[in-house]
Amino acid sequence: MPSTSAIQTLRLPSIDSLLRHPACQPLAERYGRDALLASLRQLLDDLREPVQTGQLDAVEISPQVLAGRAGERLARHHQSQVRRVFNLTGTVLHTNLGRALLPEVAIEAVQMAARYPLNLEFDLQSGKRGDRDDLIEGLIRELTGAEAVTVVNNNAAAVLLTLNSLGARKEGIISRGELIEIGGAFRIPDIMARAGVRLHEVGTTNRTHARDYEAAIGPRSGLVMRVHASNYSIEGFTARVPTAELAQLAHSHGLPLLEDLGSGSLLDLTRWGLPAEPTVRQALLDGADIVTFSGDKLLGGPQAGLIVGRKDLIAKIKKNPLKRALRVDKLTLAALEAVLGLYRDPDRLAERLPSLRLLTRPQADIQAQSERLQPSLAHVLGDGWSVSALPALGMIGSGSQPVARLPSAALCLRPNVSKRLRGRQLLGLEAAFRQLAIPVLGRIDDDALWLDLRQLDDETAWLQQLDQLSVEGRAE
Ligand SMILES: *Cc1c(COP(=O)(O)O)cnc(C)c1O
Repeated sequence: MPSTSAIQTLRLPSIDSLLRHPACQPLAERYGRDALLASLRQLLDDLREPVQTGQLDAVEISPQVLAGRAGERLARHHQSQVRRVFNLTGTVLHTNLGRALLPEVAIEAVQMAARYPLNLEFDLQSGKRGDRDDLIEGLIRELTGAEAVTVVNNNAAAVLLTLNSLGARKEGIISRGELIEIGGAFRIPDIMARAGVRLHEVGTTNRTHARDYEAAIGPRSGLVMRVHASNYSIEGFTARVPTAELAQLAHSHGLPLLEDLGSGSLLDLTRWGLPAEPTVRQALLDGADIVTFSGDKLLGGPQAGLIVGRKDLIAKIKKNPLKRALRVDKLTLAALEAVLGLYRDPDRLAERLPSLRLLTRPQADIQAQSERLQPSLAHVLGDGWSVSALPALGMIGSGSQPVARLPSAALCLRPNVSKRLRGRQLLGLEAAFRQLAIPVLGRIDDDALWLDLRQLDDETAWLQQLDQLSVEGRAE
């Protein structure tokens, strides 16, 4: 019999028969009839040509196989775009990976706020309208010594709002060494311009003296600003006016001193062996009138921008119509209050606050974990790779202590191929890790892929998906 007749008799099943087929019932239940119908239509459209040209056999177009393929398409299409990942980059507060992880109490607070009505702007005492900032004002005052507080969407918003409220149409005086850019298009000169503040830069990149500020102050001055040089450090022949001296200078001319701390910290981190970071309380004690900082950097909370300081200035900031555009939502406030509450007990903070727990995890502990996991990974990767548990250096991230390194440990994966081929192999493996159900993100450095284990809490989930890793040339 000529083979062409066999091709001619092969026909795709109809949509109706597929929809009624038992193999499709679970899909209809899971994704809905409309989605299943659309998926089957597309699948049949795609198969029409291969069927006509005889590239498929009867089994490949059986209802069971087609249902399976439709199921795969639907699963891909319905997969959520917001995905959990393993952050093994070595950077703890990674801006691109969501920064701080919330503690359990904050997660519970978010759930409560999401599920029930709450007193967001309602004073339960008086029964009158309230102010959402009041929900955390008491805690912030207690923890920082500030007179008043207001909270906005993030620290960039805090800086923009403060500048606009206190310095619009006037000059903002700032050292040239502090005109920084923070990743993602946050540049102090641009923010100043958008806030309507005229930039008056003083001093030089490496050295700025009190007399530089003094000479710049005049009738057009609106404020003096200081910015924490988050993501770079100037070393060598440098000079910077201490905050206390700068505050005195500003005040003697009737100007407020605004300090953008960036990360800021509520407590002295050296008590946990971490590099010193300026605290909000100290900046206020030194005389800064307004201090701004992020909620999701060293504070370890949700994305937010905190503006703390003098009551009269905070009142002015809160009256700015921009405040309404930049305000935080109830979920953020609920999480923030819960996180701040943990700071009342500094002795147990490192156990309870995930970011601090991760930052203070002992190197020996991470090294032991690397050694424990090394054999499993070596087995999965096979002969093509050497896998070693090595000391590594991580970082805090988010502009906190840009030059400081956190002693850590990592699984270091090196391809056993000639130098010429290494780059491609590494990129291939990196991509394979990214394609796992819970993508694993490491960093490529020195011809190797490094998986820093400081943040690997969920070892079981990590190990479970390892055999899904599709590595080129892997031993079967
Ligand atoms: C991170 C940072 C910002 C921006 O804070 P976000 O919370 O990311 O908006 C502003 N200023 C400084 C000095 C920073 O370090």
